[in-house]
Amino acid sequence: MAPTGTSACPGCGAVLAESGGATHRYLTSSAACFAAYGVVSARAYEDPARRRVHQLAVDAWAVQHPGAPSRVTDQSVALHLMTLYLFLEEGVEPEQGPALHRSMVARRIAYEHLEPPADRGDVTVVTPVSATTTTEHIGAVRLWAKSAWRAWSPHHRQVREWVDAWRGRGSRPRG
Ligand SMILES: [Zn+2]
Repeated sequence: MAPTGTSACPGCGAVLAESGGATHRYLTSSAACFAAYGVVSARAYEDPARRRVHQLAVDAWAVQHPGAPSRVTDQSVALHLMTLYLFLEEGVEPEQGPALHRSMVARRIAYEHLEPPADRGDVTVVTPVSATTTTEHIGAVRLWAKSAWRAWSPHHRQVREWVDAWRGRGSRPRG
């Protein structure tokens, strides 16, 4: 149980002081978690060094809050996992994220629903929102992205197949 005055986010499990306010349109989170994500995003938009890695934070937050199954949320999870794969396993620059997502959507691949893992990772938005310097922020965002990606490991193989399909190599079995 979360201590009095706090609540655990239904998406990532982060325990934060309760707050009112908005939540995401279709991704499920506590208002406090969404607000913390807003703070991390705001810091990224005012600092070019933070902004360069910000897609890692966008992807990590999205896959820790997959939302109820639907066409929109299933595609969201797929695209964010695909870019996490490219950034973390292939060393692609996170700055390329928005362009990659546009290209992935244009491919019109049928992204089936992936059952979200019960455990979404040890690192949540709490780590980057607590960081005070740019260096800490960037390190925290990287840790967060790795943790979120690792949490989805039962589906890594499917994600690699989608990346292959997006690249036009067709899907094929991989180990
Ligand atoms: Zn959350």
